[in-house]
Amino acid sequence: MNNFSYTKATDLQHAVSLLSENNDHKAVAGGTNIIDLMKYFVTEADTLVDINRISGLSDINDTENGGIMLGALMTNADTAYHPVVENRYPLLSKAILAGASAQIRNMATNGGNLMQRTRCYYFYDPAVPCNKREPGSGCSATKGYNRIHAILGHNDNCIAVFPSDMCVGLAALDAKVHISGPQGERVLPFADFHRLPGDTPHLDNNLQAGELITGLELPEEGFSEYYSYLKLRDRNSYAFALVSVAAGFDIEGGLIKEAKIALGGVAHKPWRSAEAENYLKGKTPSEEHFAEAAEIMLDGAQGFEHNHFKIALAKRAIVRNSIMAMNPGSQRPGAKPSL
Ligand code: SF4
Repeated sequence: MNNFSYTKATDLQHAVSLLSENNDHKAVAGGTNIIDLMKYFVTEADTLVDINRISGLSDINDTENGGIMLGALMTNADTAYHPVVENRYPLLSKAILAGASAQIRNMATNGGNLMQRTRCYYFYDPAVPCNKREPGSGCSATKGYNRIHAILGHNDNCIAVFPSDMCVGLAALDAKVHISGPQGERVLPFADFHRLPGDTPHLDNNLQAGELITGLELPEEGFSEYYSYLKLRDRNSYAFALVSVAAGFDIEGGLIKEAKIALGGVAHKPWRSAEAENYLKGKTPSEEHFAEAAEIMLDGAQGFEHNHFKIALAKRAIVRNSIMAMNPGSQRPGAKPSL
């Protein structure tokens, strides 16, 4: 780990000003990823700017649109167990609790969850080429061991996946990301926050220099009746998703009025398909229709030597999770999902 300075931001403006001074000034809140990145020499920060003391970013507030705003500095645990989130946005609560460990969720913040970096093994190993860590050096994963890597939205520059569970729930809920920076405040739809690798695989998201996430806005509709989050992984806890699915449905008169499905563990960002969701509108919630939506969602998927299995796994996960969403009680341990 390199030597670095540490300073505490007193308020939002102070934090923005410190972060804008130099690209090597990095924000730290829970510190559950950036400290690892520094220890592994993946990120070299001159100065860590502690943003934990910024007031007003650690709670939940109602919005004018009937939704809620989650403070960027609220911990993942406080968010998941907050009664408003549990009751109105249980899909998000479930997605958060599928991630990491209880200890990490107690430290990790909502803003930090969006800012975490890929867990591609080669990204964390400075001895091997990696376009994300060192642009232009090459990608060690395309011809290496790529069991955990992407099947959608990738290219030769990078086949890493974004590791968050919480963000898969936020994507399905059509959250909005509130941002403060040197140019003032702005709001990004969740789908526009993270990026696909394209020609700039070193950039994970569209945050500009000096900008900070201040809040995550959730819409009024939280799919509290028909929802499910399914995470498939190599072991039952403290492992990243091979495939995960967040689904929320609005059912009216026995037909699907609205469907929101997001996939995790398959791409450089949570994956949505407007075509698949539109296909489901007006249909009965049946296994056959969910299977067709899964085919649409995985259209164009391309695996690598060790992760072809993810394509079939993702399709089955979409069907199973959608069936579970029709009966959220079926998600209890030991229960058998049914329509
Ligand atoms: Fe680096 Fe991306 Fe390739 Fe992993 S997949 S080695 S993060 S460029």
